[in-house]
Amino acid sequence: MSDIGNNACVSEGCGQPAKLQCPTCLKLKIEGSFFCSQECFKKNWACQPHNPFPNYTYTGPLKAVYPLTPKSVVPESIARPDYADTGIPVSEQSVRSSATIKVLNAEEIESMRKVCKIGREVLDIGAAAIRPGVTTEEIDRIVHEATIARGAYPSPLNYYNFPKSLCTSVNEVICHGIPDKRPLKDGDIINLDISCYYGGFHSDLNETYLVGNVDEQGKKLVQTARECLQKAIDIVKPGIKYRDFGKVIEEHAKKNGFSVVRTFCGHGINQLFHCAPNVPHYANNKAIGTIKAGHVFTIEPMICEGTWRDEIWPDNWTAVTKDGKRSAQFEHTLLVTEDGVEILT
Ligand SMILES: [Zn+2]
Ligand SMILES: [Zn+2]
Repeated sequence: MSDIGNNACVSEGCGQPAKLQCPTCLKLKIEGSFFCSQECFKKNWACQPHNPFPNYTYTGPLKAVYPLTPKSVVPESIARPDYADTGIPVSEQSVRSSATIKVLNAEEIESMRKVCKIGREVLDIGAAAIRPGVTTEEIDRIVHEATIARGAYPSPLNYYNFPKSLCTSVNEVICHGIPDKRPLKDGDIINLDISCYYGGFHSDLNETYLVGNVDEQGKKLVQTARECLQKAIDIVKPGIKYRDFGKVIEEHAKKNGFSVVRTFCGHGINQLFHCAPNVPHYANNKAIGTIKAGHVFTIEPMICEGTWRDEIWPDNWTAVTKDGKRSAQFEHTLLVTEDGVEILT
């Protein structure tokens, strides 16, 4: 355990010699929580409690609460994607520059149906745990257990070193939020983004939920995001272009006074977690490709109260709105049929 030594108070603009350390940080073996006085300790939210990015200016009220629990274990008996140990999806990277969209055969479609059904079950189990007071890490534990209980691997786990088994995106988090020790509060909105790997295929779906009593504007945001996804699904059929969804989604978002995220898109999904096509959600996009029967891809619009511009927390994952206002998202994995679409999730 570290000694106070000659450290200075970490409270911004203080710099007095440190006389105490945050007791909780000490217990958790977190280094560097030095303060000159009780007063500085109290006003420094870096230790109230346990902010991992003390030099980062958050865009909104939401803050990361660390430390994270150790990486969850997946039994050896469960088949794993290629990145499970290394963090690097080699098979995905080998086709990264390709715009070729896979047409799945009947057997592959059956595999997609199975893994998507598992994804739906796992999401519903995770969602049932949402209530004020529960931490997102606790939801991660429940989702992880439900996934491995079905013989599936939680696709987010170790994908480019992502540390958890699902993404939990609260309030101003657009996507890719990391489950941590922050308890949900009454009035929050939270997106659970679930991906499973089973029988050699991935599924991907997400929904945004209300925690306790959410204000009218928050409810409208969530409802509009849900409708944006549905309106895009309504036009899926062979012959239309992947660039066509953006217009439908952005029109509906704007009509309700909301904006559409541009940085993150829907994607092809099959034996690969993310592949062609790229599916933007904003109007006037330049997406490549025409929809054909046998294509499987996601649509997952992220709709914002204020600006659509995003930035990434120092964890290199959590995408938040630049203005700290809320964002909501819904996602399905879709199969294109001869005359329309089947929602697999
Ligand atoms: Zn997803
Ligand atoms: Zn996705």
